[in-house]
Amino acid sequence: MGRNNLTKYLLFILLLVIQLINLPQNLSQEIDNNLLGKRVNKNTRWYGNKTVLPSISIVIMAGHADSQDIPGGGGTRGEAVGLKGLEPMDSTMSDELFWNLKIRDAVVTLGKQKGLDIISYDPGIRSIADEDHPKTNWSVGSKFAAEGFYVLEIHFDSYGDDGLGSGLIPAITNNLNYLDESLAQSFGRYPLFFRGGLGASRRQIRILEIGKLEGDLENNLRNIQTREQTIDEIAFQIVEAIKKGLASNVSLNPLLQEGDIFLEDSYQ
Ligand SMILES: [Zn+2]
Repeated sequence: MGRNNLTKYLLFILLLVIQLINLPQNLSQEIDNNLLGKRVNKNTRWYGNKTVLPSISIVIMAGHADSQDIPGGGGTRGEAVGLKGLEPMDSTMSDELFWNLKIRDAVVTLGKQKGLDIISYDPGIRSIADEDHPKTNWSVGSKFAAEGFYVLEIHFDSYGDDGLGSGLIPAITNNLNYLDESLAQSFGRYPLFFRGGLGASRRQIRILEIGKLEGDLENNLRNIQTREQTIDEIAFQIVEAIKKGLASNVSLNPLLQEGDIFLEDSYQ
């Protein structure tokens, strides 16, 4: 072995050792991120960079809380019920709503502990046919949004091929802010005008898809041994993202990219 080859060989061994040292850390990061399963993977470019006052009031709602028994409106049954034939968590509602309610309440409880001005809204009636009825999430949410509240509706995405994964579906506005940006960085980023502009998005209500209701995420929720911890971890991730978005020294560093939307507004 010549001197040059020996140097290359030693360098190779050194790189191998560095890889091995780094391996456990990488693995644990991967496991942490696996809590929610797959992230949405859509070619999308928007940035939220409007400053949000740290004192902003936040409203958290549970998706489908007013649309049980309405065709196509009840939310996903989840893989356990829809595919494996297991009993629903609660026979009066879809599993998605069951978990949406749990996450909503956990986020509000933790958010209050962390000093956020945060409340939940519940329509009280689980099946309202008219989406413009004054008690629906959409009606109340859009009212709150018009008053300057940040309104976020919790959802789980469909299992199998129908679901895309975790992520924030933004509101249709050119005032996307640091809260939107922080949630998108933490959970994933759905396109603006997703599915032609969802009813919620048009009403300035943000939708957070926690993840597809399937696999490990659903198992960890259903398993009584891991349920509470899983709900707490999801709530923690949401509240942390909100706190980061509210921080005045936030540095999310958006870079100008080809195909960006609302350039004139988004780069100050
Ligand atoms: Zn949903």
